[in-house]
This record gives sequence, C-alpha cells and structure tokens, in this order.
Amino acid sequence: MEGKVVLKVEGLNKSFGPTKAVVDMHLEIHPGEIHGLIGENGSGKSTVTSMIAGCLKPDSGVMIMNGKRHEPKSMLEGRASGICMLLQEKGTINHLTISENIYLGEENQFSKGGIVNRRRMNQAARKVLESIDLGHVEPSHLIDELSFEDRKLVEAGMAMKEDPKILIVDETTTALSQKGREVLYRIMSQMKEKEKSVIFISHDLDELKQVCDRVTVMRDGAYITTLSGEEITVDAMRHHMIGRDFSDG
Ligand code: ADP
Ligand code: MG
Repeated sequence: MEGKVVLKVEGLNKSFGPTKAVVDMHLEIHPGEIHGLIGENGSGKSTVTSMIAGCLKPDSGVMIMNGKRHEPKSMLEGRASGICMLLQEKGTINHLTISENIYLGEENQFSKGGIVNRRRMNQAARKVLESIDLGHVEPSHLIDELSFEDRKLVEAGMAMKEDPKILIVDETTTALSQKGREVLYRIMSQMKEKEKSVIFISHDLDELKQVCDRVTVMRDGAYITTLSGEEITVDAMRHHMIGRDFSDG
C-alpha cells in the first residue's frame, strides 16, 4: 500500500466571517489506515472533516479522492462518493422506529406495489443491530427508547451498511462507555481489514495511541505534522498540539 492515497487535501481554507477556521490545510489518507486528527478545541478539525464529508464548502483548496476531484455539494453527495461521518451530536431521528431510522429513504428496497414490507425491513435491521452487539434490541421499537450510546452505535451500524471508503468519527467515543468504545474500535478495525480508511477525531491521547496508524496534528486551523508508528506517543502529540514542550511550564 506504500504510496497509495485514497484522499488528498491540499491548500484547504475556510473562514466563518473573521474567523479563519482552516488555513492552507493539507492531509493525505491512505487506504487501510486509521488516521487520527488532533488539535485543541477550535483548531479546525471538525471544519476540515465537514468539508471532506460535504457538509461545508471550502473557500479554496483542492480535495482529490482516488485521483478525481472531490467536490461534494452536500452530505448526500459525500455519502455517494463513499464518505460517512459520525457526529458528536445525535444523528438519528426521534419518533421513528429503529428500523425506520436505519432504512430512512431506502424503504423502497423492501416495498412491493408501494407498500413497505415491514417484516423484511425489520429482519434486515436486525442484522445491522447484530453487527453492533445490539442483537437483543427489537428493531420495530422507537429509537427514542435507546440510550444515547446505543443510538450512536446504531448510527455507526448505519454508516457501515453503506460500505464507506472513509469513515469519519468525530469525537464519538468521548460520550461512550468502554463497552461502546470497543464496538466502535471493532468497526474501525473492520474498515482497516477491508482496506478502507477511518479519520478518527478524539481528545483521548491514550486511545489515539492505541488505535491509530498515523496521527495528524492541527493548530490554529493549520497543519502541523503527521506522526506515524513509534512516533505516536502521548508526549509527542501533546507537544505538537500546544506548540511547545509542555514540560517547559
Ligand atoms: P475543532 O473541531 O477542532 O474543535 P472547529 O472546526 O469546530 O474546531 O472550529 C474551528 C474554528 O471555527 C473555531 O474558532 C470555531 O469557533 C469556528 N467555527 C466552527 N464552525 C463555525 C460556524 N458554523 N460558524 C462560526 N464559526 C465557526
Ligand atoms: Mg470538533
């Protein structure tokens, strides 16, 4: 896989009014890697990944995916090109059942003559639930009945169902228990096994050290460095994030 790149970001800029959120950012994502993205609060991580996912339009700069210009105009277009994003906030819809959430907009595949076969839809949803260790959960129940954590996992299952090329995990683990985190780590390693990639945003440096193949550090909207393998230590990450040796005081 040496030298191969699934996504390349070059000279990316994004401002919100006077705030320069992302400045001349570059980033390369390899197939089959878990790529950490770190930086202090407000350093531009979510803005970069939102542009990659199609939720935000860059002011300038280029994104290349598998050798072609990547210019998604919406999250839907981002998804169509193989990018799925898990957000920190709630990504599922209240007052719908779990299976309705999982197959929202895709009910057609279970319908005949305009009538959705709920039994088949629930059966398919059960498979998704099993993949995230929620096989005991009844897909015909309202999503509202699930805990925040289980809803996050459902969202992860929904993303995996799309067979994404790149999965973006933006601080999802922060709100999860160890058990929930482990389901997410398993999903991330499944991505790797399939030679797919994960962009993983987290504040937990120990967690990053354990799961990431490479880690890119941002500061003030800009690219600082990319660490790989043995270079990924808690001290090195912290040092690059704050821009000086933290032991200097
Ligand atoms: P991070 O994810 O690293 O915490 P963000 O990308 O969310 O950082 O934010 C980068 C900067 O852009 C911050 O100064 C933030 O306040 C600002 N920002 C982000 N989104 C918006 C927005 N929608 N409107 C105005 N400012 C924003
Ligand atoms: Mg963020």
